[in-house]
Amino acid sequence: MIGILLERWRQGYRTEPFPRKEPVLADRFRGVPRVLHEKCPKDCGACVSRCPFGAVAVTDGVSIDLGRCLFCADCPACPHGCIEFSTDYRLATSSRSDLWLDQRGLKLAAALDAKMLALFGRSLKLRQVSAGGCNGCEADVNVLGTLVFDLGRFGIQFVASPRHADGLLVTGPVTRNMRSALLATYAAVPEPKLVIATGACAIGGGPFCGSPEAHDGIGDLLPVDLYIPGCPPHPYTTLDGLLRLLNRR
Ligand code: SF4
Ligand code: SF4
Repeated sequence: MIGILLERWRQGYRTEPFPRKEPVLADRFRGVPRVLHEKCPKDCGACVSRCPFGAVAVTDGVSIDLGRCLFCADCPACPHGCIEFSTDYRLATSSRSDLWLDQRGLKLAAALDAKMLALFGRSLKLRQVSAGGCNGCEADVNVLGTLVFDLGRFGIQFVASPRHADGLLVTGPVTRNMRSALLATYAAVPEPKLVIATGACAIGGGPFCGSPEAHDGIGDLLPVDLYIPGCPPHPYTTLDGLLRLLNRR
């Protein structure tokens, strides 16, 4: 027992000081992409066909759809090296169209309106629905409950029943088998309610996009209030998005 207490004393307070202090992420972390427009020969367009997930478009310069981008370890899209990744973890947006990253930069998620903030600003209960994902997103959402992130200190908690929840946090592309379960869970959440699409799968199907066994995400099934891109999103990306929604960032 003494040993346990001494070890507890040695470890001290382990919760990260976020959002008071910005986190330092590993260099290998891939956050907001950087498009080096000056290196791009304007008539190339190879990135459009080379991205295996159709995440790149060239209209007035190169744009990347962060709802489709899987932040591949070795992005093969640009043969001229015009696409790099920063370590900026802030990626969540309020609308699907805001996930298109172009020369104007990313429009990050806005706070809820005053009425919703009065309801959920200090206490937000979420039901997590895993709608057929690979478990990557779920694992990195689970991490938010550890003492490193300590989600509960922001008044945000995951609950077991949708009837006790203020909203859903959905992961996965919505497989055929999960469609009715997702809709029934949504119906069981009392009004007013929030929906959060977490990960490329929930936003647009991710690597399963186009599969006849899945639904390409929740976009046309549920009204989404917050989009959190990534495959999976970093826990700080999810936490940052949630805090933006609650006007804490
Ligand atoms: S990281 Fe992957 S999904 Fe994203 S643009 Fe590059 S190749 Fe496409
Ligand atoms: S977005 Fe990526 S990590 Fe998340 S469920 Fe889909 S495949 Fe898995």
